[in-house]
Amino acid sequence: MKKWFRIAGLVSVLILSGLLFAQQSTELPALKQEAVTEVDRLQTFTQQMVDQIFSYSELGFQEVETSRYVTGILEKNGFRVERGVAGIPTAWVATYGSGKPVIAFITDLDCIPRASQKPGVAYHDPMVEGAPGHGEGHNSGMAVNVTAALVLKKLLEGHKIAGTIKIFPGVAEEILGSKAFYVRAGLFKDVDIVLGAHVWHEFSTSYGTGDGKWSGLVSVQYFFHGKAAHAAGAPWDGRSALDGVSLMNAGWEFRREHLRLQQRSHYVIVNGGDQPNVVPSEAAVWYYFRELDYPHIKSLYGIGNTMADAAAKMSDTTVDRKLVGSAWPTHFNKVIAEWQQKNIEQVGMPNWSEADQTLAKALQKEIGAKVEGLKDKVTPLSEPMKDPIGGGSDDVGDISWNVPMVYLMYPANIPNLPGHSWANAVSMATPIAHKGSTAGAKVQAMTALDFLLQPELVKQAWDYFRNVETKEIHYESFLAPEDKPAIEMNKEKMERFRPQLKKYYYDPAKYKSYLEQLGISYPTVKAQP
Ligand SMILES: [Zn+2]
Repeated sequence: MKKWFRIAGLVSVLILSGLLFAQQSTELPALKQEAVTEVDRLQTFTQQMVDQIFSYSELGFQEVETSRYVTGILEKNGFRVERGVAGIPTAWVATYGSGKPVIAFITDLDCIPRASQKPGVAYHDPMVEGAPGHGEGHNSGMAVNVTAALVLKKLLEGHKIAGTIKIFPGVAEEILGSKAFYVRAGLFKDVDIVLGAHVWHEFSTSYGTGDGKWSGLVSVQYFFHGKAAHAAGAPWDGRSALDGVSLMNAGWEFRREHLRLQQRSHYVIVNGGDQPNVVPSEAAVWYYFRELDYPHIKSLYGIGNTMADAAAKMSDTTVDRKLVGSAWPTHFNKVIAEWQQKNIEQVGMPNWSEADQTLAKALQKEIGAKVEGLKDKVTPLSEPMKDPIGGGSDDVGDISWNVPMVYLMYPANIPNLPGHSWANAVSMATPIAHKGSTAGAKVQAMTALDFLLQPELVKQAWDYFRNVETKEIHYESFLAPEDKPAIEMNKEKMERFRPQLKKYYYDPAKYKSYLEQLGISYPTVKAQP
C-alpha cells in the first residue's frame, strides 16, 4: 500500500513537472519574440551607448568615464552596483533580481594605444593625433549587454520569472589585467552561467578550444637596475640597466628557435634610459609569453626569468619583475554554445545598407586587404580544432575554467582588418556597429531566457563543465598571493590625452549620432582615381 502511494506520488510529481516544463517551453518562444521586439525598441539607446563609449576612448585600468556612465545608467534602471571590486577602481558588479539561476554578462571596456580614428572615414584620420582609440571595438560590448539586461529586467518583472542578472565589465582586457583577480576575489562563486560578448565581423559562438587560434599567457615586466655614470667621462664606473634589457632580448631571440612552434612571445622596451651621455641606471622590458596550456605557459615564463637573471649577471646589474597580466586559454561550454547558436541563426545578420558596404570595401581596399565587404551569413557552429595553433588571448579564459561560459561574437566590425589598429576603429561608431550591437543584444537576451526558463539546461551545462572540460585539467591561477592588479598602468598616458579627448565627448542631448556631432558624412571614402 505504502509503495503504491509512493509510486502514485512520484508519477504525479513527474506529470506535474512535465506539465510545468511543457508550459515553460511554450512560453519560451513568445518570450524570446518579446525580447527581440524590446531590443529593437531600444535601438536609439544602444546606438547612443556605442557612440558615447567610443568618444571616451579610455585605456585599460583608466576606464573612469566609461564606468561612471554605464553604472549610472544601470543604477537608474534599478540595478544594485558595487564599485571598486577585486581591488580595481574601475571594476564593478551590477545586479538585478533574486534567486537562481544567476546569469552573468561580461564584456570589455578598454581601448588601444595610438588607435584614435574618425569613425566612418575609410582612411587613417585620427581624432586626436597619437591618442588612444577604440581600435578593437570594445566600445560596443556594453551596449550589447546592457541593452539585453534592461530587456531581461522588464521581462522578469512582467512575467514574474525568478532569477538574477549580473553585469561585469572587462576592465583592462587589452593588458589581460583583471579577470584572474576577479576569480581570485570570488566574484563568480554564486554565478551559474556566464554569457560574454565580444565584437567581431562574424556572428558566431564556439565551444572547447574553438577555432584553435587562442593562447593563454603571462604578461611580465622586467626591471633592470644599474649604476649611473658619465657615459664618456667615466663609463667604467657605470653599469647599464639597458645592457641588461638588450642582453635579455638578444638571448630570447636566440632561444626562440628552440621553442615549440605553438609559442608566441613578444616584447617592448618600456624604459630604455633617459639620454645617451648618462649610463642608464634604470631600464625595463615588457614580455608576453603565450602558449596553449598552463604547463607550457609556466615553462615559457620560467625560461624568461632565467634569461633575465642571466642578462643581469652578464651586465653586472640586478633585475626584479612584476606580473602585470595573465590569462588561461579559453574553453567555452558546449551546451550553452549549442543553444546560443540557435538564437544566432534565428536573429540572423543585420541588414547592411549600401553605405555600410561602401565603407567596408573602401577600407579593405585602403589597407590592401581582400575587398569583400561585410559578411551576409551567420557562421555555423563547428567542432573545436583538434590541434590548436594558438594566437591571441583573452583573460575571460580564467572565468571559463571556473563557471560554464560562452563568448558571443557579434558582427559590429569589418572583415579582413589587422586588429589592434586605427583601421579596426573605423566602423565602431557607425551604423555597422549600431546594427551589429542590436543583433548581439537580441542573442544575449534570448540565450539568457533559455537558461532562466529551463533549469535542466543549467544542470547540463555544469555536467559538461565538470565531466568534460575540467575532468583532467584543473584551474590554477598564474597569480602569486602577492600579485596585485596593475591599476597604475596607462595613468600618465590617459592624463596626457584626456583633456584633448574631452572636447570630442559625444553629447546625445544635442546630436542624434556621433557622426552627426563630428560633421562626418557617411561614408567618407577616397575619391576613385
Ligand atoms: Zn578584445
